[in-house]
Amino acid sequence: MIHKILTVTFSLLLLTLLAGRRAPDLVDAADMSSTVPISGERDRCGTPERLPAGPGQSGDPADCGYWTNSPQPEYDPTFYYDIPVVFHVMQNSSGDGFLSAATIQDQIDVLNEDFQAIPGSPGAPGTDANIRFYLATTDPQGNATNGITYSTNNNWYLDSGNYWDTLAWDTNLYLNIYTNAVPCCYGYVADFPQTGIVGTNEDRVVLWWEAVGKQPTSGYPGNMGRTATHEVGHYLGLYHTFDSGCGSAANCYDTGDLICDTNRQRSPTYGCPSSSSSCNSQDPFHNYMDYSDDICFWEFTPEQVNRMRCVLENWRPDLWTGAAPTLSVSNLVAGQTGLVEVWNATPNNRCHFAWSLNGGGPISTPFGDAMLTPPYQLRMLQTDSTGYASYSASIPVSAAGVTVWCHGTDIGTRSMLNALMLVVQ
Ligand SMILES: [Zn+2]
Repeated sequence: MIHKILTVTFSLLLLTLLAGRRAPDLVDAADMSSTVPISGERDRCGTPERLPAGPGQSGDPADCGYWTNSPQPEYDPTFYYDIPVVFHVMQNSSGDGFLSAATIQDQIDVLNEDFQAIPGSPGAPGTDANIRFYLATTDPQGNATNGITYSTNNNWYLDSGNYWDTLAWDTNLYLNIYTNAVPCCYGYVADFPQTGIVGTNEDRVVLWWEAVGKQPTSGYPGNMGRTATHEVGHYLGLYHTFDSGCGSAANCYDTGDLICDTNRQRSPTYGCPSSSSSCNSQDPFHNYMDYSDDICFWEFTPEQVNRMRCVLENWRPDLWTGAAPTLSVSNLVAGQTGLVEVWNATPNNRCHFAWSLNGGGPISTPFGDAMLTPPYQLRMLQTDSTGYASYSASIPVSAAGVTVWCHGTDIGTRSMLNALMLVVQ
């Protein structure tokens, strides 16, 4: 029963996702490799290369270290991280560099489309990382804000001078994005989160102001706001898909980009080719962490998502708010009314709650393993705007001493809740 319902629900979700998927052959048919490479005048990305391994950096035991990666199920996208963003718009005395609040909101929208693979958006074919971005509503002093600062300084406009020492909001707590004429490139991050930069004023994403928004003024090829997607990928610990060249297929968590589900790649992709291969496989030129044109980008892979969420947990722990959805059962007393509660699930969505008197499974479902032995009882619960849902049930007097196995799902994130094994009091 639970399996069937889960399967139907999952199939509907899949259809929804597929409906929003851009037809890859339509894009590929328009071979844009003849257009000017994005690096023609301006490098795609000025993020520094990793330094050679040194003391304290090699052999990092963390699951998402500077030199190694070890995807763990706990970092799978089972709940949302919400990240406050401040944009620091830097202009020159002629007014160049100005970005309206609407353009900046457009850029936030692009980040959300790409990081959440929102159906119907250009990012729909990607992986939903369950990471959300919003313009900060409170500044470091506790005052209300729209999350945007404006300053006029001809040096800063050219990305010169330590503007961050004047402008930065606590980088433990805010994603600081600066926009200016950054001469080097479309954008960059100052360094990766494992290097000790988190919490310093220097910790930042910098974007060329003409590559910001949904229809940036620079036009093609940086014309869809994906420079920000790429740079925020770095900010969350991702490397270029071609980092360190082909690397080793057998040691893909320790070589190349430290990610195994991105094909190995010798060098950057420019333009938007219909086909490009190296290291004995197709290059991942639709990946946000390549150098392709914006229109060619449409995905992070599941392992990249796992690494970014690992970085949020371990390297940027104060940046976000969010919590894993939790199932609890209280007052499980014979002859009384038991209370099932779900916290932190997807708001205004639904959850499954299921229980069995026959054992703890597991059985496989499209949402993950359900720790239940058939047959089950199953209820569909509606979550409120905070992600809370509840269900009350009368416990028979005769149930005292009976063991009950409980499990459930958060349908919004297509993930399992925590499993419980309880004894009726
Ligand atoms: Zn880059």
